[in-house]
Amino acid sequence: MIHFNRPYMTGKETEYIRQAVLGGKISGNGEFTHRCQDYFEKRYGFRKCLLTTSCTDALEMAAILTGVGPGDEVIIPSYTFVSTALAFIRCGATIVFADSRADEPNLDATKIELLVTPRTKVIAPVHYAGCACDMDAIMEIAEKHNLLVVEDAAQAIDSYYNGRPLGSIGHLAAFSFHETKNIISGEGGMLVVNDERFIRRAEIIWEKGTNRAEFFRGEVNKYGWVDTGSSFLPTEIVSAFLWAQLEHLDEIQAERKRLWNRYWDFLSGLLPAAGEDAPRYGEDTVPRYGADTVPRCVPARGVPKFTLPRIPAYATNNAHMFYLTFPDLAKRTDFIAKMKARDILTVFHYLPLHSSEFYKAKHDGRELPNCDRFSDTLVRLPLYAGLGPDQDKVLAAIKESLV
Ligand SMILES: *Cc1c(COP(=O)(O)O)cnc(C)c1O
Repeated sequence: MIHFNRPYMTGKETEYIRQAVLGGKISGNGEFTHRCQDYFEKRYGFRKCLLTTSCTDALEMAAILTGVGPGDEVIIPSYTFVSTALAFIRCGATIVFADSRADEPNLDATKIELLVTPRTKVIAPVHYAGCACDMDAIMEIAEKHNLLVVEDAAQAIDSYYNGRPLGSIGHLAAFSFHETKNIISGEGGMLVVNDERFIRRAEIIWEKGTNRAEFFRGEVNKYGWVDTGSSFLPTEIVSAFLWAQLEHLDEIQAERKRLWNRYWDFLSGLLPAAGEDAPRYGEDTVPRYGADTVPRCVPARGVPKFTLPRIPAYATNNAHMFYLTFPDLAKRTDFIAKMKARDILTVFHYLPLHSSEFYKAKHDGRELPNCDRFSDTLVRLPLYAGLGPDQDKVLAAIKESLV
């Protein structure tokens, strides 16, 4: 059986965990935590990083920092993982769900402003598949209406928008190191604070509402309970694992990109050739990994059997995910079944949040057709460092399953 994901180990994880354990300090905010945070701050220019036990926790911290509460509105895409919404719901805010673009799952930045009301406080864009949302457009709306932007960058490590690292653009951002992401620690996440105003409070919320971090830096001579918060910081054991992954970030990324490119080359070869009269699937370029200068358009004649991902010219591809979309639910169901019969697991997601059991009665009733369509038609192919020659089997199975 070829799984959809397998956690990839660089080899140093257990050694660093051993060091953390033998070092005699295994609670949080120690040596490995600092190493990881410094790495991200230096490499990506994030103003302040705080490791957390998950991206869900990082989003909760972000929601607390934005100060939203009952009566406030937060705009998020409906096509996302539940945590993006959950964090703000727990603060009592109302979620206003935005639709995806027609040609990619990311939210449609040109339509966000229609959702802004005097109660709107936050926009939380999700960089789906690590592919950037149109951040200039989003930041412009935020500035005009005095809103905060929280990037859900759970999938977006080592990815860029017009040359700027994702997670460095919004006031706050959240990353995930869950084992299904590119860089992992089992469960794990990180809050990025780009806006100076939130740094001190972020550290306090991180450490159970106390100013313990300041105390350990010698900035105050005792510490106490000064604000709300929780125990958001991970143990050094988790940070040690993460450090082993970060040391190999470039190799992991190169391997994922190689696999991604192979899917791309193989699948674009299966699409019908574009004729003079054929409609083109968007005019944006689709950069190949390692060859960003080669523009590719996806040809489409009539109704293609599937559609390849769109990557806008302003976005890079961090090879978090390779997905296809089918013309309808039945064709996707058929594809997944055929792949499974060949011992290959492919998966779909997300069930739209606006029509979820928990939120449907609270949703304002607007239809979100693009979100519904991606929910019905998108499928993810196996992609992880370590897939190796098994990718040949996946490619062969895809060819057979598409007929
Ligand atoms: C994975 C993911 C999360 C949650 O991450 P955890 O670390 O599992 O809490 C949130 N948002 C998106 C878009 C994700 O893909």
